[in-house]
Amino acid sequence: MSDFLVVGGGVIGMMTTLQLADAGHSVTLLERGQCGREASWAGGGIVSPLYPWRYSAPISRLSTWSEGFYPELALRLLEETGIDPEYRQKGLLYLRVDDEARAMDWAREVGKPLERVSADFLYAKEPEAAPGCREALWMPTLGSIRNPRLTRALRRRLVEMGRVSLREGSEVTGLRLAGGRVSGVETTAGIVGGEQVIVCGGAWAAGLLAPLGVALPVRPVKGQMILFKAPPGLVSRVVLMDGRYVIPRADGRVLAGSTLEEAGFDKSVSGEARKSLWHSATRIVPALAECEVEHHWAGLRPGSPDGVPFIGALPGIDNLHVNAGHYRNGLVLAPASTRLLVDELLGREPIVDPAPYRLAGRLPA
Ligand SMILES: Cc1cc2nc3c(=O)[nH]c(=O)nc-3n(C[C@H](O)[C@H](O)[C@H](O)COP(=O)(O)OP(=O)(O)OC[C@H]3O[C@@H](n4cnc5c(N)ncnc54)[C@H](O)[C@@H]3O)c2cc1C
Repeated sequence: MSDFLVVGGGVIGMMTTLQLADAGHSVTLLERGQCGREASWAGGGIVSPLYPWRYSAPISRLSTWSEGFYPELALRLLEETGIDPEYRQKGLLYLRVDDEARAMDWAREVGKPLERVSADFLYAKEPEAAPGCREALWMPTLGSIRNPRLTRALRRRLVEMGRVSLREGSEVTGLRLAGGRVSGVETTAGIVGGEQVIVCGGAWAAGLLAPLGVALPVRPVKGQMILFKAPPGLVSRVVLMDGRYVIPRADGRVLAGSTLEEAGFDKSVSGEARKSLWHSATRIVPALAECEVEHHWAGLRPGSPDGVPFIGALPGIDNLHVNAGHYRNGLVLAPASTRLLVDELLGREPIVDPAPYRLAGRLPA
């Protein structure tokens, strides 16, 4: 029996497994499909909430910690796996922000570089950006990660770690309780045991806990994205306008996102969303209209009521823990949120106050 049993191999489950194994523990990771193929693959990889000043302090705290940690993590994964997660810190340009004063107050308060820049500055940085802007907001320290490569690198690292048993194609179908503890996890590949069980099932986390009578308020929120086959250099940094964004990859490709849809567990893509994303993207960078749309996909974000993830022990069950509900920010929050739970599991000093993320008091009666 492993020391820890992690359910769900998205970015949250894999980073949790990595840290527990780093600390010398045996870990079994159960993933229904292949690790890193759900929301953690489908996301954009901006290493910040989109308009960070509009988020609550608990989200800011985790994202600030993670932003500081990403360069080190990306370097480590590149060295250990040969896969470059393409962490690039090229800054972000905000066009047409209507709550600039609030943004500037927030930046001063948290000590984040953010400045109002002129049109000359904007077009020197991004010559193809929407014409006619008189100014922009510029966040020079913002980074982005190529999340499909991040998850591939994490998976490869875990496969190579002797203390990790990575079981893909193992769907968890139930949690067995005995004496106030999880005594075993039922899977399509048989019963699996673990001293401590951690549910990291993303948008599916609530379904895993429902049979125990726990109503975790995490729901799927569909997001569609399109990918342009753009020439290298057409877009160099993340540009955000009217809630939509373009994200360049190192090979020139440009992602444009994203929709927010309450559609249950449906992951189908629609022509309407594709058109809407195309219009937004070509307003941000008109030259994208000349580029082929190479790919169009949808993913399910683990939506929580206020976007604050649920991190910690499940009240009433001795050895069951949860880390889910990162909504639109799971890629940026992952390093900090997984570290916070691992700190708690291993009895270490937590990186931030765990209180706002705990389940106790946040579950419906
Ligand atoms: C379009 C879009 C754009 C986004 N952009 C960004 C961004 O720019 N920046 C950012 O920070 N975040 C972004 N996100 C959000 C981010 O992708 C998610 O918050 C994050 O990936 C959630 O990670 P997770 O590990 O909790 O979930 P997932 O990656 O969904 O992983 C959950 C895993 O659990 C497995 N699982 C579920 N049920 C079971 C079961 N019964 N048994 C075994 N395994 C199971 C699933 O197969 C899956 O692999 C975006 C999301 C979308 C959809």
